[in-house]
Amino acid sequence: MSEPTGRLPVTSEEHIELVERYSAHNYHPLPVVVAEAEGAWVTDVDGKRYLDMLAAYSALNFGHRHPALVAAAKEELDRVTLTSRAFHNDRFGPFCAELADLCGMEMVLPMNTGAEGVETAIKTARKWGYQTKGVPDGRAKIVVCSDNFHGRTVTIVSFSSDPDARRDFGPYTPGFVAIEYGNAAALEAAIDDETVAFLVEPVQGEAGVKVPPDGYLRDVRAICTRNNVLMIADEIQSGLGRTGYTFACERETVVPDLYVLGKALGGGIIPVSAVVGGRETLGVFKPGEHGSTFGGNPVACAVGLKVIELLRNGEYQRNSAELGAWLSVSLRQKAPDTVAEIRGLGLWVGIELGPGCRPARAVCERVMDDGLLCKDTHETTVRLAPPLVVTKQDLEWALERLIPALASARG
Ligand code: PLP
Repeated sequence: MSEPTGRLPVTSEEHIELVERYSAHNYHPLPVVVAEAEGAWVTDVDGKRYLDMLAAYSALNFGHRHPALVAAAKEELDRVTLTSRAFHNDRFGPFCAELADLCGMEMVLPMNTGAEGVETAIKTARKWGYQTKGVPDGRAKIVVCSDNFHGRTVTIVSFSSDPDARRDFGPYTPGFVAIEYGNAAALEAAIDDETVAFLVEPVQGEAGVKVPPDGYLRDVRAICTRNNVLMIADEIQSGLGRTGYTFACERETVVPDLYVLGKALGGGIIPVSAVVGGRETLGVFKPGEHGSTFGGNPVACAVGLKVIELLRNGEYQRNSAELGAWLSVSLRQKAPDTVAEIRGLGLWVGIELGPGCRPARAVCERVMDDGLLCKDTHETTVRLAPPLVVTKQDLEWALERLIPALASARG
């Protein structure tokens, strides 16, 4: 046994030094060490308060430590924490039934992380392709979009167009064809007899909050239906209120064949993901063919059930739509000439910096000093995704800090 590492860290610097030394450098976090949080606000180990305008990449749609979600988790922790799927638990059935109903679907397959949810959707589509569509064994193709982000497993990075996500992780999983995002004609052209699914983010989050052209999702739906190809909507980030709708697909009154959900489904408390679909798709699985020890655990289901209940009255979706519209309009009015474009839907905004005004991280570092947390994506974009419990006063406060920081963003 080695000796303990010594004195416990106290200051931000001491914490960050430990992380630098002992954790793999697979992230580049802003230098803030959060110790407490409530609603849209967090406090660091030095007692400084920050407005959280990232919300853990939309996992915290209901804010930090929403009282009803924390209560649901605590109550379940005092009852039963884990059964595995070897036995039933008394939260699993109600969770699946409620989630299927929320989605207007028939069946649910729960997992934990988003990437597992996407992997599950891929397996569902392939199995459906062989068993139902009649694609020859081993030939199934899934169409995906350039600049996608669906997670970090080997299969998922196999169809990423981001060199950082792929480099040195081969050999890659075959069976994917990438097309331009937002281009329905490209989808039609890419489909052949061996195509089983089209996997798409209704809004591309990690790519910089890219909203596709109006009518795109409707055209995608029609093309998939016409060609007997499953439409898989990865709503892990866009779903559960983020865009002002329960599902971003609703904006075009589109229902996919499979939803992939994650992040906010666990209320920012516990990883919960799920694939939700019809009996003809999720019904392909038989015992032993797929699973996860923690998938559908009682604490996850208890929190998930409460999340669904919170979404039922539409309050979070409304706040996202109304405040999101106000935020985008305000940003467009006040944006300095360093900003090339403001994109967004609901409380989800990408601020694209013009050439010579990057990197976006410099803006995030500057506003962090002023008590505002947000995160860059791909050097060029400052991304805003506050918890949906944020208030207009919070956002006004944020803009007072953000606009000067954007104005000073000169390479
Ligand atoms: N899909 C989308 C659209 C995402 O935004 C993310 C995460 O950012 C994932 C999948 C992967 O989720 P996780 O990090 O929980 O594996």
